[in-house]
Amino acid sequence: MGEFIEITLDADLIPLEAARRLAGLCPVDIFAVEAGHLVVRPANEDECTLCELCLAPAPAGSLVIHKRYSGENLVARG
Ligand code: SF4
Repeated sequence: MGEFIEITLDADLIPLEAARRLAGLCPVDIFAVEAGHLVVRPANEDECTLCELCLAPAPAGSLVIHKRYSGENLVARG
């Protein structure tokens, strides 16, 4: 968990192809695919630019960006 940003996901809801797309599009390498599942690299979470690029390919509700500093969340809408 980052100090300012925490990203949570339900890897079971994210197909492998979408996981690969997500891992490739984040500009600050927050995601990786390990053993066929999307994972978050905790050390990179605070680098999130809130660009929301990851929210489009993620199925609804499968990915949440928590702004710990404000309590707001950005949720994948599918
Ligand atoms: S909002 Fe942008 S920077 Fe943050 S995790 Fe998603 S793709 Fe990466």
